[in-house]
Amino acid sequence: MALAHNLGFPRIGRDRELKKALEAHWKGELDEAGLRAVGRELRARHWQLQKEAGIELLPVGDFAWYDQVLGHSLAFGVIPERFRPHGGKPTLDTLFAMARGSVGSHGSAGCCGGAHAQPAFAQELTKWFDTNYHYLVPEFSVDQQFQLSWEQLFEEVDEARALGHSVKPVLIGPLTYLWLGKAKGDDFDRLGLLDNLLPVYGEILQRLATQGVEWVQIDEPILGLDLPQAWKNAFERAYNILQREPGKKLIATYFAGLEDNLGLAAGLPVDGLHIDLVRAPEQFPAILDRLPAYKVLSLGVVNGRNVWRTDLQQALELLQQAQERLGSRLWVAPSCSLLHSPADLGREDQLDAELHSWLAFAVQKCAEVATLVAALNDPQDVQVQAALAHSNAVQASRVQSPRIHKPAVQARLAAVSAADSQRQSVFATRIELQRAHLKLPAFPTTTIGSFPQTAAIRLARQSFKQGKLSRAAYTEAMHSEIRHAVEIQERLGLDVLVHGEAERNDMVEYFAEQLDGYAFTRFGWVQSYGSRCVKPAVIYGDLSRPQAMTVSWIEYAQTLTDKVMKGMLTGPVTMLMWSFPRDDISREQQARQLALAIRDEVVDLEAAGIRVIQIDEAAFREGLPLRKAQWQGYLDWASEAFRLCASGVRDETQIHTHMCYSEFNDVIESIAAMDADVITIETSRSDMELLDAFEAFEYPNEIGPGVYDIHSPRVPDTSEMVRLMRKAAQRVPAERLWVNPDCGLKTRAWPETEAALVNMVAAARQLRSEL
Ligand code: GLN
Ligand code: ZN
Repeated sequence: MALAHNLGFPRIGRDRELKKALEAHWKGELDEAGLRAVGRELRARHWQLQKEAGIELLPVGDFAWYDQVLGHSLAFGVIPERFRPHGGKPTLDTLFAMARGSVGSHGSAGCCGGAHAQPAFAQELTKWFDTNYHYLVPEFSVDQQFQLSWEQLFEEVDEARALGHSVKPVLIGPLTYLWLGKAKGDDFDRLGLLDNLLPVYGEILQRLATQGVEWVQIDEPILGLDLPQAWKNAFERAYNILQREPGKKLIATYFAGLEDNLGLAAGLPVDGLHIDLVRAPEQFPAILDRLPAYKVLSLGVVNGRNVWRTDLQQALELLQQAQERLGSRLWVAPSCSLLHSPADLGREDQLDAELHSWLAFAVQKCAEVATLVAALNDPQDVQVQAALAHSNAVQASRVQSPRIHKPAVQARLAAVSAADSQRQSVFATRIELQRAHLKLPAFPTTTIGSFPQTAAIRLARQSFKQGKLSRAAYTEAMHSEIRHAVEIQERLGLDVLVHGEAERNDMVEYFAEQLDGYAFTRFGWVQSYGSRCVKPAVIYGDLSRPQAMTVSWIEYAQTLTDKVMKGMLTGPVTMLMWSFPRDDISREQQARQLALAIRDEVVDLEAAGIRVIQIDEAAFREGLPLRKAQWQGYLDWASEAFRLCASGVRDETQIHTHMCYSEFNDVIESIAAMDADVITIETSRSDMELLDAFEAFEYPNEIGPGVYDIHSPRVPDTSEMVRLMRKAAQRVPAERLWVNPDCGLKTRAWPETEAALVNMVAAARQLRSEL
């Protein structure tokens, strides 16, 4: 008999109960006992939901107060000196201080009970593989000691068992944990810490065994990455040592195929292996020949990263093939932890019935896993038959639906020629025409798009959405914000102005709401980090733009000034990366559809007299596949999608793009291939050093390296910005440099924004005077 299990469940709660409790706790409105009670209730509810859905072995240890990697750091005693509690074990306050920073002994950001006099900055946050989840990066010191320091996992195991559940604790494996961390202070190889770390895993496994645990899931997703040989070797060594510890071990891999690590992963001396067949279906059936005869194989056939119902028939055929070889050694699961799925489709009361019928969230995905196992065990069962028939009907409806398949969109895509993704002339020609047309000074100044989103702006937007504010009154409220922004920019003496983006809630949602082919959920929240969640829009069908999306706002803004007004759009790659994509056509095809829709907007802006148009691609780098061998394929279509949306305009029209991060080394060629006339990037915190990549590549187009960090209210001096721009000018010819902040200013308040921009404009003037 095959077994239905789950790798992890979303912890935040279907009404984001954990978010609300955490934030109340941080504000001092909910005490620790109250917070713990909410956590306990959520865990109990989530186990129950999974069990009712038919999951036989429930994950424990997938709950975390802030982040599961942080939970492991506490468990292992990997607590940097600045957070170390004086005397004794870490507390929940220690955990929150590591996650959020602490303000010192009399502050309120959750320090260690007043024991620390000094404020401590939080641990670094970074993206969990290729997801939008962020984890707290473990910090290792050269003499790092590991010591079991946190009892949460054992308590939760007792909790689940007391509720009568059959459980499988989840641990991040030792190699993945070390890989995700960073060596601090001295430069040393963190792999060298492995021998000290393993005894703690041993201790955990022994404790779990005494609690009556049979199986432990050990997540080693780095087996899906390009690993240095030393790390591959370490896998064998580590698991040879852990083999001696009690308990059956299931190594879980996900987000990518095992490829060159397949033999390694299959051969590890453990009792089971989980692989992700949604991301890497080509691993099957090859894996069957590599798996030792004693091992359990868990197949992840239900997508843990997206919102679509599984094609059960197709999954079942694969599983039946596996079952012939494996018998009861076959387990069935979602592809990865359901942390990356919204919680419960049952909560969605405002989706139309058809769309609703196509979707599955975490609860429904568990039921799909259980159905597949039931179908393996008893294919003739009536309920199984009904579920399969229903699944087939859903697939058929998606294949045929005119809401999804739009002949006009497809015909237009099919007619796209290579010339459509090329500007008319090369950059050298364009820039001359643009200079003549725009008449900007040297070191032109601009901003990245958004200005402070004040409470009044948010209220107006909300009231309009709720129907409490008429369209006319809303338009006037936004116009008044635009007037305000333009007046200030003129007074400050900026060269290329923006309208301020007051009408936008979010740089993706604003456009998604206006495109055909996008749907919105009410409760489709996914944890991003800590208490933060995102609710990505869902791309369900061929995408098109029924009408202009931004033109009236930008056009209005341009009537207020003789200066150049910059139009502001979000690019196709970012639209795609920050949405739930379709699973029936490729990401590339979706990016091209988005590109054509945005292209129409670019052309309309030009026709309305807009001479500079910025197309933001904040998520361009995020789309990189986990395996280097797949990078070029992605980069080619991603940069082409950008060019497709940007190339419908005359040479005189200047296209900008913006990217807010600071790692360009390995993608610089593709950034150049985007061929934007101007790119603005985040550089201030790297002291312009990231321009090295642009210099080394001899990046030909214009660049606006951010001269100040918009994440902090600090107002930098003119001299500081001049110094940064001089550093920039050592790497990029001065005539190709722009002066701008690192990113948009929507999270800032007006006073610091104005003060910083006064200094920025003064810096540009000083630089010009030195030419
Ligand atoms: N134009 C956007 C803004 O200024 C860009 C935001 C971003 O890159 N994240 O807000
Ligand atoms: Zn940005």
